[in-house]
Amino acid sequence: MSLTSVSGVNIIGAGLAGSLLAILLAKRGFKVTVFERRTDPRLGPTDQGRSINLALAARGIRGLALAGVLERVMPLAIPMRGRMVHEHDGSTDLQMYGVRPEEVIYSVSRADLNLALIEAAAALPNVSFNFGQLCLGLAHEKNVLEMRDEVTGRIYHTASQPSIATDGAGSAVRDSLVAREVAHVREEPLEHDYKELTIPAVAGRHVLDPNALHIWPRGGFMLIALPNPDGTFTATLFLEHTGVNGFDQLHTPANVDAFFARQFPLARALLPDLTREFFEHPQGSLGTVYTRGWHLNGDVLLLGDAAHAIVPFHGQGMNCAFEDSAELMRLMDEHHGWAGLFEAFEHERRPNTDAIAQMALENYQEMREAVLDPEYRRKKKEAEALEKQDPNFIPRYSMVMFHPEISYREALAGRGR
Ligand SMILES: Cc1cc2nc3c(=O)[nH]c(=O)nc-3n(C[C@H](O)[C@H](O)[C@H](O)COP(=O)(O)OP(=O)(O)OC[C@H]3O[C@@H](n4cnc5c(N)ncnc54)[C@H](O)[C@@H]3O)c2cc1C
Repeated sequence: MSLTSVSGVNIIGAGLAGSLLAILLAKRGFKVTVFERRTDPRLGPTDQGRSINLALAARGIRGLALAGVLERVMPLAIPMRGRMVHEHDGSTDLQMYGVRPEEVIYSVSRADLNLALIEAAAALPNVSFNFGQLCLGLAHEKNVLEMRDEVTGRIYHTASQPSIATDGAGSAVRDSLVAREVAHVREEPLEHDYKELTIPAVAGRHVLDPNALHIWPRGGFMLIALPNPDGTFTATLFLEHTGVNGFDQLHTPANVDAFFARQFPLARALLPDLTREFFEHPQGSLGTVYTRGWHLNGDVLLLGDAAHAIVPFHGQGMNCAFEDSAELMRLMDEHHGWAGLFEAFEHERRPNTDAIAQMALENYQEMREAVLDPEYRRKKKEAEALEKQDPNFIPRYSMVMFHPEISYREALAGRGR
């Protein structure tokens, strides 16, 4: 099948990657048909799935700029210039992310960002959205998707034409590729889960510095908080499944209260609904999905979390998925058939997504433990001083967050700088 813009493309999943990709493909002239299992978010809030807010950094911003949606998105975003480390004794240490004023990352609501992207895509004449449509995977025929209308229960088939699967970490399309032995998957669950909690505003204002990502690191576990525009923070508790400080120890309101009073006494005072929220909010699981074989000829391609879900500790899953979308557009200029394009995409991206998967795992140790270590802090200050003097010296964190021109693979290889 040739890559002519008169042809149509299906997108499975109107999450972050799928909605951005719809805009990028439509702007190239493709007729884009999007299938999404959730209801239309323009009609009211939907179940947004994982994490309430996210850190947006340079790679994601580059993808948004390519789609021409920065002006819609940036008013939703709150700049965070560093990590505010809250020690057990209540003292704080602001560790700057970068050395230049523009080197900040942004807190943005997943729901608001997704809605802005869906609205921008839907405004294009060649994009059509089909909400409430669950993809069950590939049907028996080679290039046909099996779908279910979530309202009527009707099962129907749709030609792939081709299809790009952005159906997230639990991708049904990926499962089909695995069943056909096209894809090979290794899933590495993390032994830590997460739970989201709310730090409310007081008189409409943030109770902590809104321009920082707050961390309460406690060695084996941590609490973090990212600001929201309404004055609240979304706090996320990361704990092991089991053990002395594990989720399995927290089965009564009294346990939860005592745990927070012991480990996070000052944060506890900022969480008035702690015990109610703790038992009402789901306990989310985390892990890395390594996939080999992201495409079926020129018919189907996995992109974003569907191809490579990672743990959230570098704040890069969405950023990486947006970079995937931008890279696919770049490779389109070099390829004239879908099969060649999809193959080149996996060849180019997989070493990079493997690299960010590794760096994301390493960053968990840094966030929950190393940031407390005086030696780590001394080295960080040294690196900052060096970076100010020598523009060729770029620490790895900055490469990942602020330098999209440096690939993840190069950033990993530059480790120790
Ligand atoms: C706790 C947590 C914190 C995070 N923090 C950050 C962060 O700070 N920065 C960052 O960059 N990333 C972060 N991430 C990662 C980020 O959420 C993902 O990498 C990103 O959402 C991937 O986008 P996606 O479009 O590939 O998948 P998703 O955003 O998951 O979208 C998938 C879409 O497909 C739909 N869908 C699923 N299955 C089907 C089906 N069978 N048929 C039809 N539709 C389907 C879903 O409803 C959804 O709309 C975090 C993740 C977690 C869990």
